Amino acid sequence: MYLNELFSMKNCVFSIEVFPPKKNVASLNTLYPKLKELAALSPDFISVTYGAGGNVADDSTCQIAAYIKRELGIESLAHLTCVNSEKEQIQDTLQQLRQNGIENVLALRGDINPNLPRKTDYRYASELASVVHESGFNVVGACYPEGHVESDSLRQDVENLHYKIEAGVTHLITQLFFDNGVFYRFLNLARKAGVSVPIEAGVMPIVSKTQVERTVALSSASLPSEFTKMISKYDHDEQGLFDAGIDYAIRQIRDLIEGGTDGIHLYAMNRPMVARKVYEGIKDLL
Ligand code: FAD
Repeated sequence: MYLNELFSMKNCVFSIEVFPPKKNVASLNTLYPKLKELAALSPDFISVTYGAGGNVADDSTCQIAAYIKRELGIESLAHLTCVNSEKEQIQDTLQQLRQNGIENVLALRGDINPNLPRKTDYRYASELASVVHESGFNVVGACYPEGHVESDSLRQDVENLHYKIEAGVTHLITQLFFDNGVFYRFLNLARKAGVSVPIEAGVMPIVSKTQVERTVALSSASLPSEFTKMISKYDHDEQGLFDAGIDYAIRQIRDLIEGGTDGIHLYAMNRPMVARKVYEGIKDLL
């Protein structure tokens, strides 16, 4: 099923993102039970990242996306980046995805890794999106409520979304954010600029100190005072931070759904328990 069909069927689309475990088959087998737990939450689709952090990817994205679709009966969205790939490699990957019954691809440029020579067959995600679309897939794209780091301004970044849409992107998923005001401002700007495709809001529950140190510190997302107070308050209280982080994500998502968002994309970091707790707090609105 093409994912764009979901938006006319659902009040709010609910999706979950997972990432391939680090290398080897054994670790893939540790992911599968987690995927089963995530599937029990009946997400509309599960997306699978590809070579995140600028690393060269292998075929695990395709394997996992195929497992989700074939074994769990949940629609899957395979991420695909072009920053480290030549045309031939992209064609090979698309063929592999097609052979595995995958119909939806999130076309991304990918993060530039300063330690890898950048491939130049595709400069922007829109150039990849065009090829993916012409190959018969439904194409999804990324967007940034606070503007992409390389963009001069949020306005320019929003204008650049038109390239993706002209290339065939049927819906967008946002980068994570912690301040809903930032999302509403972006949405307003995007709609005024004529970006009319559905936009899913990306939310990541922050439930541990490691996540605060890694994800929050590295993300360029602005942090509302309520969020920073929560982090300080539970600096030495692991369980307290877990509970407060879940509660924050639930309140953030409930506000987004009540505010009319097209969809929620949950960055659940391969933690079914976190996804389940958040889901329990929002399921009455989905
Ligand atoms: P682009 O759309 O190409 O944008 C990159 C920059 O170029 C932006 O500043 C944009 O404004 C500008 N731009 C775009 N088109 C033009 C144009 N025609 N002319 C001039 N400027 C232009 N990374 C991974 O490695 N693997 C993943 O699985 C992954 N999943 C992600 C999922 C989501 C939902 C999001 C939001 C991001 C994800 N990323 C992933 C990160 C992403 O690859 C990086 O943020 C990357 O730096 C930009 O990718 P993009 O597809 O948005 O690029």
